[in-house]
Amino acid sequence: MVLTSDVVETDDDRDGRLTGMVVAMSRGFYEVQTDGGRILCSLRGKLRKELVRAESKGGRRGVVAAKMLRSDPVAPGDRVDIRVTGASEGVIERILPRERDLTREAPEPGRLQTLVAGIDQIIPIFAVRDPEPHLRMLDRFLVLAEAGEIDAAICFNKVDLGVSPGLARRIDVYRRIGYPVILTSTATGEGLDDLRRLLAGKTSAFVGPSGVGKSSLLNLMEIGPEQHVSHVSGSTGKGRHTTVGTRLFRLPGDGGGFLADTAGLRSLATSTVPPDLLPSCFRELRSFIEGCELGDCTHLHEPGCAVREAVKRGEIDQDRYECYRRLRRG
Ligand code: GDP
Ligand code: ZN
Repeated sequence: MVLTSDVVETDDDRDGRLTGMVVAMSRGFYEVQTDGGRILCSLRGKLRKELVRAESKGGRRGVVAAKMLRSDPVAPGDRVDIRVTGASEGVIERILPRERDLTREAPEPGRLQTLVAGIDQIIPIFAVRDPEPHLRMLDRFLVLAEAGEIDAAICFNKVDLGVSPGLARRIDVYRRIGYPVILTSTATGEGLDDLRRLLAGKTSAFVGPSGVGKSSLLNLMEIGPEQHVSHVSGSTGKGRHTTVGTRLFRLPGDGGGFLADTAGLRSLATSTVPPDLLPSCFRELRSFIEGCELGDCTHLHEPGCAVREAVKRGEIDQDRYECYRRLRRG
């Protein structure tokens, strides 16, 4: 657990109160990043009992989340009000309303676990080769982002190994649909400025399979070296805190922003997206859906389906449509 030892002295903490963001959690403790430094906090007893929290309303997210309860009162990325109680120590007094979060099914049946709260965008990362890009997985990440109303930008790393003509065509497809695509190499430095621009001022998460270069890219984003380490907090004497779940790293520069570590984010599934919501999670299908003759068209086999017509005319990419069919059939 990393704590800056400097005691925070800013204008808004005269009465020992501050606002910050939960950047890491260990059993019973929360690391909160404030403008002045990091504070190790416990949770006010009353809040601990409020396990079921108010859900954010509206949007597709609301539909997705409606039937599931959160299993966590506080999650990484939550904005909180804290009361400072000692040198780099405090108590979380209030959790501000959660906006968009990235969830997965919790071990307890029927509950969702929040991997990152208040996330602005996910960045699916794949290698152009070694390993070969898994584009079905990319499509599933994009569906998940759409369902949660979270932006997505795609990163293909290891461009120093060369982009095949086939992959170049796929990249064009994603760009035409409207997803930003950046090409990076940690070996040559290509595209790293594009990635920095993409991350500036936002809370983002890298997602993707192992071996594509996520850790290498994270380490090149100039997050402070003190943020990498996990150690016993001397100032609290509370022993070793092992981070559970996601950790958020603060990005340097005026733009700021946070980047979520990938632990747990690889196992993201689309199982929480209801079938009737799937079509609109494929962006390029949206403008055709209204043209379908049947109101509850599944776009799988119905006569007069505007989506299938558009696929035949080549206006919807065949591979993307195949991915839709597979997910829809379950
Ligand atoms: P992660 O599992 O996604 O976190 O991937 P790592 O960051 O551990 O990288 C996996 C392997 O790919 C390591 O051997 C890296 O050195 C290598 N690697 C990462 N980025 C690049 C790149 O841009 N080009 C090449 N050629 N290799 C890379
Ligand atoms: Zn249809």
